[in-house]
Amino acid sequence: MDYTKMRPESLMMTYGYKPKLSEGSLKCPIFQTSTFVFNSAMEGKRFFEVAYGLSEARQGEELGLIYSRLNNPDLEILENRLCLWDKAEDCAIFESGMSAIATAMMEFMQPGDLLLYSRPVYGGTDHFINNFLKKLNIESVGFSPEDSREEIIEKINQSGRADRLAMIHIETPANPTNALIDIEMCAEIKRTFSTADKEVILSVDNTYMGPIWQHPLKHGADLVLYSATKYIGGHSDVIAGACLGSKAHIARVKGLRTFMGNMAAPFTGWMLMRSLETLKVRMEQQARNAVEVARYLRNHPKVEKVYFLGFIGETGTEREKEIYRKQYLSSGAMIAFDVKGGEKEAFAFLDNLQLIKLAVSLGGTESLAEHPYSMTHADVPQDIKNAMSITEKLIRVSVGVEYYEDIISDMRQALDKL
Ligand SMILES: *Cc1c(COP(=O)(O)O)cnc(C)c1O
Repeated sequence: MDYTKMRPESLMMTYGYKPKLSEGSLKCPIFQTSTFVFNSAMEGKRFFEVAYGLSEARQGEELGLIYSRLNNPDLEILENRLCLWDKAEDCAIFESGMSAIATAMMEFMQPGDLLLYSRPVYGGTDHFINNFLKKLNIESVGFSPEDSREEIIEKINQSGRADRLAMIHIETPANPTNALIDIEMCAEIKRTFSTADKEVILSVDNTYMGPIWQHPLKHGADLVLYSATKYIGGHSDVIAGACLGSKAHIARVKGLRTFMGNMAAPFTGWMLMRSLETLKVRMEQQARNAVEVARYLRNHPKVEKVYFLGFIGETGTEREKEIYRKQYLSSGAMIAFDVKGGEKEAFAFLDNLQLIKLAVSLGGTESLAEHPYSMTHADVPQDIKNAMSITEKLIRVSVGVEYYEDIISDMRQALDKL
């Protein structure tokens, strides 16, 4: 059988796992062990040479199992499976999305460097950039989804550190309003500022649409980052993260992961393998439901505006339509909407939901709703909130796998109470 011709969803149950090596167990066991026994001292010596980069791996030679901070079968098999969706050469799994993002940023930037990033980004990422990285004398320049390539280049030049641009980090669609950023445009900016001895790294936080509906590496990104807590985990029962890219880039990320010790535990790897088996069916159902929910909300007299990628074809600008056509395979399952009124009406809606739970996070099998202005985005500076339509009347919904009519009827009874 030629596995390379198969779709990722066909391989999620078996790829990279050999039952013979685990007493015939159909499912990959949890390798709950801190360390691995070498067959000989010579073998142990060789494993360390390769693991610590003292010697190149020979053609076809696999990195031997040493110690669970360096590698573990539950992480390795999961990493191999996750690579299939993004067509990445390698992947590193972390104990959280934040640790994947922070580790990648620390590996590819040095004191004195400049980071360009899209705004708004995830609150934790924003905090890391504007607090911790500042302490390391890594400055940052933010840009918004409306900025043109020329405007962004102008901002970089005005920073006084254009020659030190080391990394571009973007999130598209932006949370919570689904604003779009052109990955190819960012790759052009990356090339403009890269030199023979310094490659600018372009990373894309693909948590909202990946790994099924957007593939940033195809558009020129170097790294794809995930909070695997969201769609990849998909059951709201695990915190994890991932970073994918070329073998060379991920070797560097894994190097720092080894010394930070922020790899995921074997049980987390096992949980995520369980989740990957149903990733595509879950996400497709969630996206179908989201179309129904968005249409319902758009026609409701107490709803002012709905932010949903499925409406870009009708209401988007030419630029948005082009990015959408290039980058996305689906309109996704994240919806934001403005209720008529303000905080009072938004809170009344949230407090009256019954089936849909009032909680942050997203991408799980259950539908969740929250208030970005006072919750996930409470920390975002007021001018960015204003520019991004993050107001007191805005509600964000992560649509789950329930029967769509039940989601809608819960929303209907909550809206009726406003
Ligand atoms: C949740 C989230 C993160 C952080 O991930 P954790 O797993 O909570 O550490 C990063 N980026 C985006 C877009 C997220 O939604």
